[in-house]
Amino acid sequence: MKYIDLRSDTVTWPTEEMRKAMMDAEVGDDVYGDDPTVNRLEKMAAQILNKEAALFVPTGTMGNQLAIFTHINRGDEVIIPEDNHIVVHETGAVAIISGGNLRCLPSEKGMVDLDRLRRTIRFGQDIHEPRTGVICIENAHSTGVVHPLSYMQELYTIAKENHIPVHLDGARIFNAASYLKVEASEIARYADSVMFCLSKGLCAPIGSILTGTKEFIDAARRKRKILGGGMRQVGIIAQAGITALEKMTKRLSEDRENALYLAELIKTIPGVEVHPEDVHINMVFMKINKAIDSSGLTEALKKEGILINPPENGKLRLVTHYYIGRAEVEKVAEALNTFLSN
Ligand SMILES: *Cc1c(COP(=O)(O)O)cnc(C)c1O
Repeated sequence: MKYIDLRSDTVTWPTEEMRKAMMDAEVGDDVYGDDPTVNRLEKMAAQILNKEAALFVPTGTMGNQLAIFTHINRGDEVIIPEDNHIVVHETGAVAIISGGNLRCLPSEKGMVDLDRLRRTIRFGQDIHEPRTGVICIENAHSTGVVHPLSYMQELYTIAKENHIPVHLDGARIFNAASYLKVEASEIARYADSVMFCLSKGLCAPIGSILTGTKEFIDAARRKRKILGGGMRQVGIIAQAGITALEKMTKRLSEDRENALYLAELIKTIPGVEVHPEDVHINMVFMKINKAIDSSGLTEALKKEGILINPPENGKLRLVTHYYIGRAEVEKVAEALNTFLSN
């Protein structure tokens, strides 16, 4: 059975076109720098974000962790909003890999008070004081909102005045660019390094990209080997990434339209709390203000051929993607309505 799978946009499988292109991909040993398809993808990704160089990595988590590993020294502080993926969903990797210390700031949907950020930066002049090694940000944020460029610019200016690098977790940078109606490079310019995922709404089966200066990427390439991320004839999956960048980045406004459509439909269901104004990308967050058995809901939807994750912090997250169209959205709204009306 083919499910309407709203658990994430990571559930997207490669398109027909991707699979065919993967079959014919030219390959070589990428650890020797011999894989022409990987080289092409890295060049293309760097160009798209207007950075000097790029590195293909298996996952977004590895991309983020490599960025921090490359930017900081052990014991340095990583200033970061408390609700970023790196804090919440990367298994404490910073402590293990880089020996960095996460200095978390209170966050409103991924945005921090910039005066407070400025005051948090430390230079290690005092013998007791750790140094700030990097500032991390996330856009689009995993609450589904996109931060305005003016905020990013202001944050970047503060970082540059203090000679601190900025790393952007841009897992869904193309969704953010689509919302802001700008090229992704306009977002990437406010960070020294940027990670984005090919394996989410872009339908590639595997892969993320880390971009930055040539010097930074050369160093990150060595560190990728430390993490066991040096791969061999990886052009087969890099080709899926190329097709993703060529064909899938321009259609993401459809995913947002479908998410908005879903938000509008379920908004009318009694007991459902949803904020369409916060639907900036392909994610709808909903709260059910009614005593329900949430595993009962998951089960009931599954019987209707719909997959959702259990609630996190009292909220359900519904994610649209390439394989969710208007008809699927309508079916989901109807199934929710049926369950909540009973
Ligand atoms: C998915 C995601 C990542 C990590 O990507 P993986 O490929 O799952 O390791 C990092 N940051 C954000 C915001 C994400 O959504």
